[in-house]
Amino acid sequence: MSENTKNEKMEAIVSLAKRRGFIYQGSDIYGGLSGTWDFGPLGVALKRNIMNLWWKMFVLDREDMYGVDAAILMNQKVWKASGHVDTFSDPLVECGNCKARFRADQIDVSKCPTCGKEGAMSEARQFNMMFKTNVGPIEDENSISYLRPETAQGIFTNYKNVVDCFYPDLPFGIAQQGKAFRNEISPRDFIFRSREFEQMEIEYFVNPNNWEEAFDMWRKLVWDWCAAIGLPKESVHEDEIPADKLAHYSERTVDFMFDFPIGREELLGLAYRTDFDLSNIQREAGKSMDYVIKGTNEKLVPHVIEPSFGVERALMAVLSTAYTEDEVNGEKRIYLKLPEHLAPIKFAVSPLLKNKPELVAKAREVYAILKKKHGAVMWDDNGNIGKRYRRQDEIGTPHCVVIDFDTLEDDTVTVRDRDTTEQKRIKISEL
Ligand code: ATP
Repeated sequence: MSENTKNEKMEAIVSLAKRRGFIYQGSDIYGGLSGTWDFGPLGVALKRNIMNLWWKMFVLDREDMYGVDAAILMNQKVWKASGHVDTFSDPLVECGNCKARFRADQIDVSKCPTCGKEGAMSEARQFNMMFKTNVGPIEDENSISYLRPETAQGIFTNYKNVVDCFYPDLPFGIAQQGKAFRNEISPRDFIFRSREFEQMEIEYFVNPNNWEEAFDMWRKLVWDWCAAIGLPKESVHEDEIPADKLAHYSERTVDFMFDFPIGREELLGLAYRTDFDLSNIQREAGKSMDYVIKGTNEKLVPHVIEPSFGVERALMAVLSTAYTEDEVNGEKRIYLKLPEHLAPIKFAVSPLLKNKPELVAKAREVYAILKKKHGAVMWDDNGNIGKRYRRQDEIGTPHCVVIDFDTLEDDTVTVRDRDTTEQKRIKISEL
């Protein structure tokens, strides 16, 4: 794919996402707020389907996982102990000519990407990406807090609570989904890099002797996850981070990259964080993070394997995999070939003609039956059937059910398949 085709595809996805109620620019009505996105009725459905699938795969279906939902605002000591106050920063440069600001590691600093001026870029300075706020009515050093830049710390601070309440066998994991905030210098590429986003993170606590085994298990599970959201194997790539590029807390990191329309970029990360976080908490909070191995007196601070997933990047990978153009009866058609379990709407129900009360009444009956059974069912009687199909194709609805005059005679309906556009007559009772 050439650069142009890639960008055209990205633009087509952004446009469809807006036109069909998936994703809007945040605060759009006031001119927008850079790096923020609002999910519309279909976007929130798709996002929840992705998040629920993750929760099912990694929490509900497993014996060794515990879920938490920690507060976004945390004691400032959390972010000092974790190293975020001192080191969670990106190198910022500013163009002396047009004043545009960039992340120094993402551009060629010899020439301003905005105004083209050469040699005008300032020296890089470290810019901390945490959003700062004050908790309570007094604004002083003691009331400073931050919007969490990752969900992981809410897991580490609850490790002891979970051990005390449940005393799980080692290895075990704690999972959390929720918002994270980063004051990115240059948010870009739709929802790929935003300032407010969602993460799904797991801290998997292991005996340090067994970290490699656990790392390999999670590596495999990440591939299972990619398959479960329908990403083609050949579009996902592992990137082993070399020792000199590892984050300060990591002894091994494999980034999972995806071939987005914007290029090959990070989809999620898998890191061996050692006992970095629990030891920091132990030192700074003065509380023991020891785990007593069952049936022995042996104590240890567990080490941690961390698979860290971004919801928006998963959603963007799903959308760009699903986005398809083809030709039906000589006309260009756009459709989202979403896996059925992720599709925001499973069935659309229409009367063939909306001015025939007997058809509408029967269609309402079918709609009620399907709605009760599947929940994600849409009533659609806008425009002619061709337009309805086009609209449902664009939002990825796998089945369109049409009620016509034959239905009144024999209780069968037409069911049209999104991908093949084939239509079949099926008994209502078999839907
Ligand atoms: P990048 O190198 O792309 O900035 P990162 O390595 O800083 O990402 P992590 O801190 O490992 O990212 O965060 C884990 C996951 O959270 C990422 O793999 C990504 O899916 C998601 N994520 C991180 N930053 C953002 C962001 N600004 N917008 C959307 N998702 C993000």
